Amino acid sequence: MSVVSHRNTCRLCDSGNVELVVNLKPIPLSENYSTDRDVALGAARFPVDVYMCSDCGHVQHLDVIDPKVLWDSYTYYSGEAKGMPEHFVQVSANILRKCEPPAGALVIDIGSNDGSLLKPFKQAGFRVVGIDPATEAARRANEAGIPTIPSLMTADLARRLREEHGPAHVICAFNVFAHADDLGEMVDCVRTMLHPDGLFFFEAQYLLDIIDGVLIATIFHEHMSHHSVTPLTTFLNRHGLELISVERARVQHGSLIGVVQQKGGRRPVEASVKELLALEADRHLTELQTLRDFNATVTRLREKAAGLVGKLKTEGAKIAGYGAARSGPTLIAQLGLSGTMEYIVDDHPQKVGKYETGDGVPVVPTAHLYERMPDYAIILAWVHAKKIIETNQEYLKRGGRFIVLCPEMRIVSKDGDVKV
Ligand SMILES: [Zn+2]
Repeated sequence: MSVVSHRNTCRLCDSGNVELVVNLKPIPLSENYSTDRDVALGAARFPVDVYMCSDCGHVQHLDVIDPKVLWDSYTYYSGEAKGMPEHFVQVSANILRKCEPPAGALVIDIGSNDGSLLKPFKQAGFRVVGIDPATEAARRANEAGIPTIPSLMTADLARRLREEHGPAHVICAFNVFAHADDLGEMVDCVRTMLHPDGLFFFEAQYLLDIIDGVLIATIFHEHMSHHSVTPLTTFLNRHGLELISVERARVQHGSLIGVVQQKGGRRPVEASVKELLALEADRHLTELQTLRDFNATVTRLREKAAGLVGKLKTEGAKIAGYGAARSGPTLIAQLGLSGTMEYIVDDHPQKVGKYETGDGVPVVPTAHLYERMPDYAIILAWVHAKKIIETNQEYLKRGGRFIVLCPEMRIVSKDGDVKV
């Protein structure tokens, strides 16, 4: 397999009726910060165009990056991400309340990263197994006492786990549910491993939130699917599973937590499933035109952003970026911000002193914001925009201004917010 391959069929229903609906700029693989500026500038770019299946309505990427390339150098650790450990403690408590597994039951996490989600289960006395192809994250998990298999989820591995550990009462696939190219294989693995009385929990960004919040910063190669409930319900059914509950969560600016049982399991389908299906019908979420309208919104935002920074540059303004986040290279590419930022401030030890992939912007400690006082700081770590503004009131007081890009562009100064 070359680094990227293009599929021609829908990831959920195998239909060939897939249409390009959102045109985006190709972007580099997000996390490869380099110490060599030329390497960072020359990073290969791969498509992230968004397609919709006109049969089942699933919204997805069809340009698939070889998972080995995508995950080997992955440097995102969920335990390090702001707010995530607390989120996982709460999530595990909710799962236990919902599933009520017997003492010592097996909990499997697909895409377990550094084991952060499994940790509270282990502490509660359950047997845990993590699976994650990111070798460094898996190593950290094992080191922290969370048994983790450094591998992709495959049918062979599912059978082996079932034989060695028995069926699982809880299976989780948080975030990776959007990451799998072969989702059919993934849910078949779930069916193989899931106890008849067990529950499968997944979390994925919700398409409706992406559209309403104009969350283009989250459209990168790892997110191969942008899920909605309508196509998922049919898909799970075809694979011998049943969606029994679905909840909208605020994590990552809007996601979907689905709960699934073996088809014909003892639990009733809750009203939440019907309610979201009705909402999606009301919002025409599985119709091509809805995504084409989103494409038009993105185009307008790009014109506005590029126009604004172009004008500021002409006026001689000094512009920095705030946050060497995964979304940074994405926002820079999609909103035409290339060449506008002199540096990006961030304190992440693995990023400081390196160059942002694609645009080659140097990453420097956040103290530079005060030492150099740029006229504007564009918030690239969009998830944390509110917190960044709150904790940098001094920068604003001294005349600095933040630029917030999504969902609507605004400039934040000591005098307040101004929409652009
Ligand atoms: Zn489809």
